[in-house]
Amino acid sequence: MLALVTGASKGIGRAIALELAKNNFDVAINFNRSEEPAKELCSEIKALGRKAEIFKADVSDYEQVAELFKKIKESFGESVSVLVNNAGVTRDTLLMRMKPEDWQTVINTNLNAAFYCTREAIRDMAKARFGRIINIASVVGLTGNAGQANYAASKAGIIGFTKSVAREYANRGITANAIAPGFIETDMTAVLKPEVKDGILNSIPLGSIGKPEDVAKAAAFFASETSSYITGQVLAVDGGMTMI
Ligand code: NAP
Repeated sequence: MLALVTGASKGIGRAIALELAKNNFDVAINFNRSEEPAKELCSEIKALGRKAEIFKADVSDYEQVAELFKKIKESFGESVSVLVNNAGVTRDTLLMRMKPEDWQTVINTNLNAAFYCTREAIRDMAKARFGRIINIASVVGLTGNAGQANYAASKAGIIGFTKSVAREYANRGITANAIAPGFIETDMTAVLKPEVKDGILNSIPLGSIGKPEDVAKAAAFFASETSSYITGQVLAVDGGMTMI
């Protein structure tokens, strides 16, 4: 069975791609700028005995997404059964300083891309009467966060989108669930100042920062047969930070 992970060149996406391969999925690895890390991941997955290919595409651009799905089908000779909408960016700043392009880049990459990819994936999933849509949201989409109005809006949007897709396609054997990571150690969070990191750490009941593998395990669960009676849910992987 074939899984597509968007933004799989680094961080959480990379860990998800690897975990799915360990769970016997073949993997289409999407990247945008980081080709070398994507190639390395591809070799790692092939070494596990699974099929893997890399696909360059900016998923915030609908035409590139349509082309991406065409190329994946040609290359693997099958459609995507598990779609992980993971690609994401931040452009953090206070609202008064937030430029329209900071807003648009984040909404285009974190929310519109998930719509584009899901739209391209869903027809074949419906035909097959099987599909798994896994959207990477954020706890910030549940709680909001000062300095992240654009990011929180994109992640709250993806939660509403997930629930709508879950309702619309439940009768076709397709589940749609979201994962809301808390604070995970990746390039995205590496830029935060030490005092900000310490503040966040103090708000995590389990007392440690999450690893990409923590999120990957949750994604593998939603991709697996074990979760077939679960749809439209948001699973926080946050060390107990939110408990909503
Ligand atoms: P990361 O290390 O910065 O990785 C981001 C990934 O997204 C990269 O592989 C990047 O690929 C890809 N990407 C960005 N824009 C893209 C585009 N237009 N088209 C295709 N790929 C694109 O970030 P991360 O922490 O792993 O984040 C992954 C997801 O988890 C995001 O949705 C993020 O919002 C979410 N999340 C993260 C945390 C956290 O604490 N880290 C918490 C909550 C939610 P290239 O480098 O190839 O461009």
